[in-house]
Amino acid sequence: MSKNHFETEAIRAQLERSQFQEHSTPLYLTSSFVFEDAEEMRAAFSEENQRNIYSRFSNPNTTEFVEKVVQMEGAEDGYAFATGMAAVFSTFAALLSSGDHIVSARSVFGSTHTLFTKYFPKWNIETSYFDINKLEEIESLIQPSTKILYAESPTNPGVDIIDLELLGEIAKKHNLLLVIDNCFATPYIQQPIKFGADLVIHSATKLMDGQGRVLGGVVVGNSDLVREIYLFSRNTGPALSPFNAWVLSKSLETLTVRVEKHCENALKLAEFLENHSEVTKVKYPFLKSHPQFEIAKKQMKLGGNIIAIEVKGGLEAGKKFLNSIKMCSLSANLGDTRTIVTHPASTTHSKLSSDEQLAAGITPGLVRVSVGLEHISDIVQDINQALTK
Ligand SMILES: *Cc1c(COP(=O)(O)O)cnc(C)c1O
Repeated sequence: MSKNHFETEAIRAQLERSQFQEHSTPLYLTSSFVFEDAEEMRAAFSEENQRNIYSRFSNPNTTEFVEKVVQMEGAEDGYAFATGMAAVFSTFAALLSSGDHIVSARSVFGSTHTLFTKYFPKWNIETSYFDINKLEEIESLIQPSTKILYAESPTNPGVDIIDLELLGEIAKKHNLLLVIDNCFATPYIQQPIKFGADLVIHSATKLMDGQGRVLGGVVVGNSDLVREIYLFSRNTGPALSPFNAWVLSKSLETLTVRVEKHCENALKLAEFLENHSEVTKVKYPFLKSHPQFEIAKKQMKLGGNIIAIEVKGGLEAGKKFLNSIKMCSLSANLGDTRTIVTHPASTTHSKLSSDEQLAAGITPGLVRVSVGLEHISDIVQDINQALTK
């Protein structure tokens, strides 16, 4: 683990200063790096030193961003990607071979689900799914060819919580790699490596940037596994741009204060909605009514910024709610300073049949709120007026 506290590492884990003695890390917007002579270049290519060669392999800004996430997650090493999905895809592609098998939670990010169902089968990689309410069934899904156990917690958009300690035990017992997408929690709230995860993936696009500006992704964890992912990525090219890495590294300096405020606002909004006559159900990890409240308390420092609510009146009521929103944004992003509301049944998951929607935990009136950093009274007021309209 890091020598300093989390907050300090997020700010002080910084590149060495250049000859100009800049206080804040500058942007190294360069595609490649130069060498003094043939010997220096040979040594760099044979990895006898940590020298930057080409920004598809590494770049000072990317290295700084990765190093911060490594410290925050208590990992050994990492690699940064252009997007969260590039991180997810490259992790599987680097570590799996044709004939390998994945066991995954059924409720995972939409594009990850599409990888499992549409693309991986092309390479003879199949996936079996477990229901988050039936974790006892996981072991029965494991085959001799199973390599990776995969999950997100909290889940999207249902905000369910999966017991990471249990997943860690199962992975260890069956010699599987445990890979956790920790995007909804951030390393400030939850560190899956403590529970036995071998690799942790983030879409840095969400709370890590937190201001809706750039896309990015990162994988951190066991150094041998990261090495495989690095070699795959160095040759296939999903690297994070230096500019986005520079933005993201600055963003991490304020991650703690932003996430604390996000969670404070989310808990207040969740408590308000719990007593609202137009809302039939509220799901927020740190509400006592959450079905996995005890597990959330065990593995999370705070409840996160995502709330799932069930609006009275189903599909039509859900759409009407969104149409009545005045201040909050109707947008596909989450983990932004701005509060965002989405209605999965009519948007992100509208192509699924109603049975498939229900299997993924998406009821007709489900609304997902990504609580932002506006004043809580203004957030409550907007959501309340839209509910009661
Ligand atoms: C957004 C998201 C991703 C994908 O990240 P991008 O940066 O949009 O590619 C993956 N997993 C989860 C849980 C996400 O929310």
